[in-house]
Amino acid sequence: MSAKIIDGKAIAQKQRAQIAEEIKQFVGGGGRQPGLATVLVGDDPASAIYVGGKQRACDEVGIKGFDYRLPNDVGQTEVESLLAKLGEDTNIDGILLQLPVPAHLDGLALTTLINPNKDVDGLTPISAGRLLQGLPGLVPCTPRGIMVLLRECDVPLAGAHAVVVGRSNLVGKPVAQLLLAENATVTMCHSRTQDLANVCAQADVLVAAVGVPGLIGAEHVKVGATVIDVGMNRGEEGIVGDVDFDAVSKLASAITPVPGGVGPMTIAMLLRNTFEAATKANNL
Ligand code: NAP
Repeated sequence: MSAKIIDGKAIAQKQRAQIAEEIKQFVGGGGRQPGLATVLVGDDPASAIYVGGKQRACDEVGIKGFDYRLPNDVGQTEVESLLAKLGEDTNIDGILLQLPVPAHLDGLALTTLINPNKDVDGLTPISAGRLLQGLPGLVPCTPRGIMVLLRECDVPLAGAHAVVVGRSNLVGKPVAQLLLAENATVTMCHSRTQDLANVCAQADVLVAAVGVPGLIGAEHVKVGATVIDVGMNRGEEGIVGDVDFDAVSKLASAITPVPGGVGPMTIAMLLRNTFEAATKANNL
């Protein structure tokens, strides 16, 4: 078997075009232009590139970007004050605190302060709780993007066995909740899981969100499984995933490449979350 390659780049582009069209209609119909505030603390070059990409993406779809840059030595209370101010600002629908923040700041505590109605990264405890209880709320972007990829590729989820490797608040836990909400039977794996290959090999849908290059090999994959590789690991050969693509693509029925799979969906879903927050703020 040779797997179908899930083209995240094309699917994300389609999403972005749709969002742009929806925003155009929304604003044309009298809605206020959606606004996203990004907050970047310090001068980490990779973080600056990510924030720049998010701001450009906003511009492309008609979201107004507010780009806050704070010096490396800013104090916790100053960041807290900014987040509180943005939480009240009626021109701003989404707030994104770029992580990680410098070591002297408490990133988790800062994230918790984001107004949950503007929590477009879906990382506050309130958003996580809403997701857990199946209540409407903002869902973390990468997991939401994974669900769009699965839907676009018509991957059956109800009754399927989904195995998620990785249990971060950012990816593993929320994607497991979303799969459960689609009636998959979900198994979560992590660094203490015993016989990982055997557990993974039972998956109809396998999601790898680990951060270990090539961890998932042929022995982890059942013939015909759908494999979603979230990993983005920088090495000498550029960015590689958590899945040994060459070996696994011979067994899987569908697989995301790295790059060009899950990655492009993350920004598309940030735009989607910002627009959704805006429509709620406008009571539509
Ligand atoms: P993380 O917070 O570091 O979590 C990694 C998870 O993997 C942890 O739950 C850890 O288990 C588990 N793990 C580590 N080694 C393992 C092993 N040998 N076997 C089984 N499980 C193992 O990472 P993350 O933030 O979720 O990110 C995961 C990967 O996705 C990274 O490569 C990251 O760059 C990438 N990522 C990509 C996107 C995107 O847009 N494409 C977005 C976010 C993240 P324990 O909990 O037991 O420690």
